[in-house]
Amino acid sequence: MPKDIAPLIYEASMRKNWKVREALKDNAWILKIKPSINVSVEHISQFLALWILLNEVHFAELSEDDIIWKHTTSGHYSVASAYKAQFLGMVLSPMDKMVWKAWAPPKVRFFSWLILQDRIWTTDRLAKRGWPNCDLSPLCKRVQECGPHLFYKCRFFGQL
Ligand SMILES: [Zn+2]
Repeated sequence: MPKDIAPLIYEASMRKNWKVREALKDNAWILKIKPSINVSVEHISQFLALWILLNEVHFAELSEDDIIWKHTTSGHYSVASAYKAQFLGMVLSPMDKMVWKAWAPPKVRFFSWLILQDRIWTTDRLAKRGWPNCDLSPLCKRVQECGPHLFYKCRFFGQL
């Protein structure tokens, strides 16, 4: 199931075969994501989707590892229902709202939101206003720095 919703996060997990209940206890699965992965926007998107869906899982009282999935009438999980559930209550950009629900300190959520709005002061924005800027990406010195470049396109991204 996490493999279908968030293949990149599943790939990065150091504990792939524990029980759902174990993985969810105190959000333990988050701590089992390899710290060394090169994080892309796709990773962040999948992480948020998985995090939101896991928060909606309700455990049945009786059996060990049965879960009730509230997005289908049968209570059984399906990939299609999970896909639809990601967009529940979301208007324009699902990522915008997902950021605020993420398990992270408020300053991290706020900064992530600014990134998604392309509202951080990268050189492309500074240049548009005629403000002083360093022009090229300070890391690769090849292209003008912009949000996507800074966070995942730069070849030095993830090596810092
Ligand atoms: Zn660069």
